[in-house]
Amino acid sequence: TKGLQMSEVTKYYAEGSNRIAALDHVSISVEPGEFVAVVGPSGSGKSTFLSIAGALLKASEGDIKLNGYNISTLTAKELSNIRLQEIGFIMQSSNLVPYLNVLDQLLIVKRMSGKVKREDKEFATKLLEELGLGSKLKSLPEELSGGEKQRTAIARALINNPNIINPNIILADEPTASLDTKRAHEVVSLIAQEVKSRQKAAIMVTHDERMLEYCDKVYRMEDGKLLLAESSRSVVTHG
Ligand code: ADP
Ligand code: ADP
Repeated sequence: TKGLQMSEVTKYYAEGSNRIAALDHVSISVEPGEFVAVVGPSGSGKSTFLSIAGALLKASEGDIKLNGYNISTLTAKELSNIRLQEIGFIMQSSNLVPYLNVLDQLLIVKRMSGKVKREDKEFATKLLEELGLGSKLKSLPEELSGGEKQRTAIARALINNPNIINPNIILADEPTASLDTKRAHEVVSLIAQEVKSRQKAAIMVTHDERMLEYCDKVYRMEDGKLLLAESSRSVVTHG
């Protein structure tokens, strides 16, 4: 099965009698071509959920499948390969490499694993232009605004793969946090477009209600429990 499946996933941060269940029997299935939003108050478990979905953090209980791989049975090496090949992370802090220019941020994985072809460069350039970074290809992170850094990180997540292009699963943590309204819509609609045209499974944690209209489903995290909210189309009225 492609996409992401979690079954009865629980995460305890501390063992013993006063342990906290940051996630409490969470089950969810995100199919290829599906764009899911997770909303909920601070401390409800959203970051924990995303970290487990991205195989950055181990669950205490439950099963997780990423694009058909049962991640609890994999070695650390296999896990890191899955992360690299299957998952595009868009995190709050953009984690750009300080000494690489914008274009090279996108090509670094490809460079490390072989040769960068002209079409790789063209694809990366086109994506950056779509995100309004056409004039920043040679800029270093320190020369970028917060929003430009975020957009660079998003572009990288969309193509972060040794074969360039196409991790199957996109995990986004507040991708619009540092963007103005216009850019926020551009970025999330770009993610939505990728999800549909390339059949990716995507999860976006967000506080931004305006972005829910791009999502197929909205879940709410409450005290570690993940609940399906109404369809986003009925939550948000188009203006
Ligand atoms: P979010 O609520 O946006 O998911 P995170 O869980 O990613 O935030 O937290 C990022 C950092 O910011 C954490 O150190 C968290 O403790 C802090 N933080 C997030 N929201 C708040 C808040 N409302 N008040 C205080 N600290 C917060
Ligand atoms: P959110 O992203 O919704 O803000 P988190 O997943 O960050 O929520 O946190 C969920 C719960 O787990 C909170 O009660 C938080 O204090 C706790 N928690 C998060 N990270 C840790 C940690 N590393 N150690 C102990 N408790 C943690």
